[in-house]
Amino acid sequence: MDIADQTQERIERLTEAEQRFGAAKPESPQPTGYCLNCGEPLADMRRWCSADCRDDWEWFNAHCL
Ligand SMILES: [Zn+2]
Repeated sequence: MDIADQTQERIERLTEAEQRFGAAKPESPQPTGYCLNCGEPLADMRRWCSADCRDDWEWFNAHCL
């Protein structure tokens, strides 16, 4: 099995997992009314209270999930 095959297999496995759990893509979270990083209530449909929180959240998702 070469690298391309392994990558394809990994992508298929990820897609399968997303379908199984009905999960949205990590990079496109839905606004919840609260900052996704620190939980601060937000008046509008933003997903984070600040660019810092967005960056923290993106880092966490990229490295810890
Ligand atoms: Zn925040």
